[in-house]
Amino acid sequence: MEFLLSDPTFAMACEQFHRVASFLGLPEKTREIIKWPQRSLTVSFPVKMDNGTIRMFVGYRVQHHLALGPTKGGIRFDPDVTLGEISALAMWMSWKCALVGLPFGGAKGGVACKPSEMSKKELEGLTRRYTQELIPFIGPQKDIPAPDIGTNEQIMAWMMDTYSMQVGYTAPGVVTGKPVTIGGSLGRREATGRGVAFLVKKVSEILKMPNPLRIIVQGFGNVGSVSVRQLVEQGAVLIGVSDLSGALYNPKGINCAHLCAYKEKTGMLAGFPEADPIDGFDLLCQRCDVLIPAAKERVITKKNAEKLQCRILAEGANGPTTPEADKILEERKDIFVIPDILCNSGGVIVSYFEWVQDMQSYFWSEREVFDALYRILSATLHSIMKFSHERKVSTRIAALSLGIKKVAEAKEMRGVFP
Ligand code: NAD
Repeated sequence: MEFLLSDPTFAMACEQFHRVASFLGLPEKTREIIKWPQRSLTVSFPVKMDNGTIRMFVGYRVQHHLALGPTKGGIRFDPDVTLGEISALAMWMSWKCALVGLPFGGAKGGVACKPSEMSKKELEGLTRRYTQELIPFIGPQKDIPAPDIGTNEQIMAWMMDTYSMQVGYTAPGVVTGKPVTIGGSLGRREATGRGVAFLVKKVSEILKMPNPLRIIVQGFGNVGSVSVRQLVEQGAVLIGVSDLSGALYNPKGINCAHLCAYKEKTGMLAGFPEADPIDGFDLLCQRCDVLIPAAKERVITKKNAEKLQCRILAEGANGPTTPEADKILEERKDIFVIPDILCNSGGVIVSYFEWVQDMQSYFWSEREVFDALYRILSATLHSIMKFSHERKVSTRIAALSLGIKKVAEAKEMRGVFP
């Protein structure tokens, strides 16, 4: 397992973990038991491509711990996917589920591929073959995948269909983030972004920030675009945005409806005529009220943490801030960090609701879904702020402490088998 530490994202997750474990005074034995992923699967499999060739792909699924129930976490289709990155994301999922009180351990999966360069038929072939390889590993009571970078409702539908064909009955509870017609939950697609927007609004009210909030977002996929649309609906002004194609900036405000229409038509943000192009790194350092990283890990680093000019850092992405950057932000004290394991937890919370609805075959209204989501987010934000205030630690350390402590207690109570 030590080899995982050569991956920078896994090393970062472990560094965060050890800092919090020391703060909590967790004994070395407990740390070793809860740090390493409990189960990791690496698969390689062939896919028939449209040009008649056969291409091999490598995929992973990691289940971090099973102490609290089945494991839960997204599937990422991205060329940079590695076992180390997936293991780090699975670990963060564990702390997140425990923090918000869900009966799950953390998991994550992924396939190293470029979905934007594959046809629908190739993507279906890849998804079905990858799912086939995971069959002994996943299931409604074992491990429940969901969408993440590069995957969506259609991919979840193919996963659910492949699993159901294998077991011989329809098993909607094997994945979440499915289309509503086949057992998905109302509100799941927007849940992560709406959760981000809800928390930003709450925190801005607590900090008594004047309106309108000026926002910058990195990443305009599911999480980034829904967060922006929701915040703009609430009166915020979007002044900067980026995706893989480029970054845009207009301090006078970017019309969100025009931007979405442009993205819909061209498939990218680059070239949007109503804002100026800007370097993606520089965009993060522009003055704004709310900065939302909603793309990949390790984008707020020791190189730019000192230069950030936001009041709220709302971490839509998983692991966007490195431990070195965290220390700089802690010293600065002028930026309120909504840590990833709270900020983007709307996705897994509504995934949990979807799983519960599938298990009961009883479906909720959208209102019931969002009321229940906002109750959990509000209560968790309150607990984190209380812990942070009483123990005089950052919101990140507070959030991680609450999550890690619950997992450590569960492991302790269950003991070591046999
Ligand atoms: P997505 O694939 O829908 O969108 C990702 C976006 O990021 C795209 O617009 C892409 O172009 C952009 N991007 C990638 N690299 C970039 C870079 N270097 N600079 C600027 N933009 C870049 O993915 P998503 O589901 O929105 O996930 C985004 C983040 O949110 C990930 O960290 C993911 O783990 C996290 N997250 C997602 C969910 C969910 O429900 N989808 C839930 C919790 C956390």
